[in-house]
Amino acid sequence: MIAKRYEPFWKTTALEKMSPAQWESICDGCGKCCLQKLQDDETEEVFYTNLSCHQLNIGSCQCKVYETRQEKVSTCITLTPDQLDEFHWLPDTCSYRVLHETKDLPNWHPLVVGSHKEMIRQGLTVSHYAVNEESVDEEDWETHIIKWVHGMPEPYDIT
Ligand code: SF4
Ligand code: SF4
Repeated sequence: MIAKRYEPFWKTTALEKMSPAQWESICDGCGKCCLQKLQDDETEEVFYTNLSCHQLNIGSCQCKVYETRQEKVSTCITLTPDQLDEFHWLPDTCSYRVLHETKDLPNWHPLVVGSHKEMIRQGLTVSHYAVNEESVDEEDWETHIIKWVHGMPEPYDIT
């Protein structure tokens, strides 16, 4: 008898049709959306920095206050399926964005690999380069602006 081959749920279920648990599991835990962003007043262009929200545990890339994050940090954004078309502000390696745009997950994703080991091996989490926002004066944040190159941060001088 030939065993039936089942496709994983992210290939058969659209993001907007996923259960809350499935939706949550798409987040790869890279921590990139927890980096502070600066916006140009005139062009509205958004720039990432390597400064992490003070509630991010940089080593594990876990939020220290996940259940109450929006009470603790008013600017914290919860991603929901109805914002799919606005995901362009997320880094291009964000798994929500990748799945929305390509209909598949990258081969390093924890749901594919079974753990975060491939992400860690490839340096795809912010733990290698994030700096706590509280350790830098806000007037110096511009010097921490980065651009993403193949998912990795490179210094970016906007002047
Ligand atoms: S950037 Fe995307 S995949 Fe990474 S932690 Fe944020 S929501 Fe999750
Ligand atoms: S409160 Fe938590 S989830 Fe929100 S930006 Fe800060 S670390 Fe990230």
